[in-house]
Amino acid sequence: MDEIEKLLKEITEAHGVPGYETPVRSLVRDYFAPLGELSQDKIGSVICCKTGSAPAPRVMLAGHMDEIGFMVKHITKEGYIKFLPLGGWFDQTLLGQRVIIKTRLGDVIGVIGVKPPHLLSSEERAKVITRKEMYIDIGATSLDEVTAAGVRAGDPIVPHADFNIMASGKTYLSKAFDDRVGVAMIISVLQELQTKEHPNTIFGAATVMEEVGVRGATTAVEVVNPDVAIILESDIAGDVPGVNPEECANKLGQGPTVLIYDARMIPNLKLRDMVVDAAAELSIPIQLSAIEGGATDGSVIHLYKTGVPTVVIGVPARHIHSHSSIIHRSDYDNAVRLLVAILTRLDASKVAEFTA
Ligand SMILES: [Zn+2]
Repeated sequence: MDEIEKLLKEITEAHGVPGYETPVRSLVRDYFAPLGELSQDKIGSVICCKTGSAPAPRVMLAGHMDEIGFMVKHITKEGYIKFLPLGGWFDQTLLGQRVIIKTRLGDVIGVIGVKPPHLLSSEERAKVITRKEMYIDIGATSLDEVTAAGVRAGDPIVPHADFNIMASGKTYLSKAFDDRVGVAMIISVLQELQTKEHPNTIFGAATVMEEVGVRGATTAVEVVNPDVAIILESDIAGDVPGVNPEECANKLGQGPTVLIYDARMIPNLKLRDMVVDAAAELSIPIQLSAIEGGATDGSVIHLYKTGVPTVVIGVPARHIHSHSSIIHRSDYDNAVRLLVAILTRLDASKVAEFTA
């Protein structure tokens, strides 16, 4: 396992659902500490400031460290746990999945269950089972055993899955690439810039609670007060059966994506073109992507104060918002190369052009 694989393994396996990012935040702080000066907003986003050869422009790199998860809603009298979603789950991906409940007494493993198929009528079996019919089973045989394990309403619940390098050696399987891949890219870029000149000051921000409505970006941007912003995200890969290229043409291994559109932001066109031109000049493959049904931290950052020129760069991932998503190493490496190239060129006069 090389350094990037080790980083991606640690950062995707770390626990951190919206509102309970503590475990992943402490890992991110450890990675950030040698790279710049750390600060934090009051809901938990962490910011690493790396000063270059000029105090301005202030460049914000944002990636969210929360992952989609759940919360304990209530415990039934038989000792099963009913749960709330934190973020946008597709209910069909949930059955049979393992989860970790973060209780005050420690971690408790469980599995998401429903009535066994043997007991379902053929009519019932043909229907989609919704989350409300599901429960988490921690292997208890009474309510007392659940209480003794420390489980209480309000406890966060994290998907349980591990990082794997897949057969080709070039693709990786893990939970939470959305958006730990973005946070990992901030770390990799700040590491690369330790030995390079950059005519600006960079603020790498690992934000919280994006999956429940871009909350951490709203407060982190107040700390940073950026002149320009680049959002680092996972994007959707459309190279799976049942998706036609008109819906989504992004493919694994064909380069990072540059978002031309999402539901809540149109990028600054001059900044977008700077990214596209830099990629062409350096022969870095990119894919232009439009997400009609989603948004990023950019949605609030680009509207901060009188406006912030913003663009989104993504790494395509298959099966996002599940326990098992897949990314391609070359997309990651190319995104980092592209970002380093942009950041070493982003000086005050260039940024002034974006809003001229
Ligand atoms: Zn995301």
